[in-house]
Amino acid sequence: MRVLAVASEIFPLVKTGGLADVTGALPAALGGQGIAVRTLLPAYPAVRATAKRAKAVHVWPDLLGAPARLISARIADLDLLLLDAPALFDRPGGPYADAKGNPHPDDWRRFAALARAGADIAGGAIAGWQPDLVHAHDWQAAMTPAYMRYAGVTVPSVMTVHNLAFQGQFCATVFAELGLPTAAFSVEGVEYYGDVGFLKAGLQAASAITTVSPTYAAEIATPAHGMGLDGLIRARAADVSGIVNGIDVGVWNPATDPHLAQRFSGPGARTSNQRAIEARFALDRDGAPLLTVISRLTWQKGIDILADLIDPIVAFGAKIAVLGSGDAALEGALLAAAARHHGRVGVVIGYDEPLSHMLQGGADAILVPSRFEPCGLTQLCGLRYGCLPIVAQTGGLADTVIDANAAALQAGVATGFLFHPTGHAPFLAAIERAVAIHADQPTWRAMQKAAMRFDVSWDRSAARYAALYRKLAAV
Ligand code: ADP
Repeated sequence: MRVLAVASEIFPLVKTGGLADVTGALPAALGGQGIAVRTLLPAYPAVRATAKRAKAVHVWPDLLGAPARLISARIADLDLLLLDAPALFDRPGGPYADAKGNPHPDDWRRFAALARAGADIAGGAIAGWQPDLVHAHDWQAAMTPAYMRYAGVTVPSVMTVHNLAFQGQFCATVFAELGLPTAAFSVEGVEYYGDVGFLKAGLQAASAITTVSPTYAAEIATPAHGMGLDGLIRARAADVSGIVNGIDVGVWNPATDPHLAQRFSGPGARTSNQRAIEARFALDRDGAPLLTVISRLTWQKGIDILADLIDPIVAFGAKIAVLGSGDAALEGALLAAAARHHGRVGVVIGYDEPLSHMLQGGADAILVPSRFEPCGLTQLCGLRYGCLPIVAQTGGLADTVIDANAAALQAGVATGFLFHPTGHAPFLAAIERAVAIHADQPTWRAMQKAAMRFDVSWDRSAARYAALYRKLAAV
């Protein structure tokens, strides 16, 4: 079976968050299910540079106002179709922002072009290769099913929501330039509260909708988490499902991880990693529980709550190592806390993949106090590395962590600490519980063993995607 994935990022080529991890890992996992995935991706400068000699498989003289070519390339074991449209994608900065961090004013055109290209490929633009199914990821790819629908392309499609907070909503004036029939500016089409909604259009047009955990799939059907789209999600309830993400257990393998000071296959041999973290974050070397945070520093992730609670957490005797970047005010609050609590709190502002491995391999617990979390990946890495997750009971966090309540401890299945609702007192209480159990090392070790046994690979989830694809495409 042939699948065209459409996405704006893919690990290891371009990544701003968990979306890239998923689009990067899923093709190999689906390969094991007899499904060949080709991923359509913008040819950002860094990606284009790695595919210099690749050949063009299709040319558009005018793709939403820009000349474009489609380049077929195999990079890092990924089968890619790169949309080479220099006027849209050959720019400095990140995938969604210029060098100063400001969003591109023509993002609607950039990602409408990506989607239009995806729809054309689905319709047979590449000689000798047509997909049996199209899988669009997030708002940047979401117009693909919409373009397919209005072009009469009958290939089935899956729309996956990695985070409903990002919707691709643009002023209605862009509609005239999207190249869609007038009838598409309607509730059944791309119209969204008087604007144009890319994700909304994809949710409306796709054959099936998935999101990245069963709990998040249920949450987004409610006004509290639906971000304006809950009515649509409810209307399409029969076509909505949640499939939890996995992680690449080859990249995240504590027994072979090149970024660790000490590799390990059981929870007993992590001390050198903890020492390395203490050295890097200027923390005391005292055997106190070491908590880590690896995150975008934002309101969604509950980092404001963490910043408020630093003093009582330190009063419990714990140490904290934070790696992340995001809101300037939150970065400032955490840096101020580190200055206030010498040896107890360390903060590294930035994005550092190797350091994130070291933190998972050496810290005792990872804190994820998210207000909402479609799936979350850092808790999965934490489980695999015996860094016990202390997480809000929401979305994928609720689906992947087993709370250390009395029954679960007794049964030997507890893998972390859940709290509900996301807020100061419940979060602090969960940390207090964790610190108390950490003092009882045999119990802590048993939890680490249970966590490290938990299957965080893509195997089960890839089988679920494969089953969905096969149902839709009847291949
Ligand atoms: P989101 O996609 O909402 O940011 P996820 O938990 O789904 O959150 O995925 C985040 C991914 O990015 C994980 O792989 C995590 O390890 C990584 N990550 C986040 N912040 C950093 C950072 N500062 N340095 C290194 N890796 C990070």
